[in-house]
Amino acid sequence: MSAPEKATDHQAEIAARVKAIESIMIEKGLMTTEAVDRLAEIYENEVGPQLGAKVVARAWTDPEFKSRLLENASTACAELGISGLQGEDMVAVEDTDDVHHVIVCTLCSCYPWPVLGLPPNWYKMPPYRAAMVKAPRKVLREEFGYDVPESVEIRVWDSSSELRYWVLPQRPAGTEDFTVEQLEALVTRDSMIGVGAPKAAA
Ligand code: FE
Repeated sequence: MSAPEKATDHQAEIAARVKAIESIMIEKGLMTTEAVDRLAEIYENEVGPQLGAKVVARAWTDPEFKSRLLENASTACAELGISGLQGEDMVAVEDTDDVHHVIVCTLCSCYPWPVLGLPPNWYKMPPYRAAMVKAPRKVLREEFGYDVPESVEIRVWDSSSELRYWVLPQRPAGTEDFTVEQLEALVTRDSMIGVGAPKAAA
């Protein structure tokens, strides 16, 4: 059996187990199908990196908000009405000219849901989780096409169920006259994970 087939089998097995647990919980009255559907809908359609982009654009344009964000990301996000599951203890780490940050969860797939939504598949996979801590510069270049200059230090943050990190990327050059909405449009999911840069000013 080839590796991709194995991965698919494994995913199907996990999906079957999740379905079974869900059926038992519904049967026992611990939750309802409506609640399950609603949760899926929230995290598939309503919560996503567009919320993180709002927070980043605000930090780029409001130094006092930025200080509060770096001090306590969860309470700063709550000011903008952004909070929820898996976001109780978030830490935002700021990229500078000298330091670039990347997030990972080496143990499983901890991720700041309220600002980024659900993690992409590759974030949950062993190759990313293992390789990023060992050779971040190489992984960024070879897997993500993202070249971080040798002069810039790369710091990798290992998230856990207690602390979930995410990146405040640098504001792109040439955006001095941009409105907050225009800035939001430049912030990508990958730039908040640290595997890419924000879009450049057109
Ligand atoms: Fe995890």
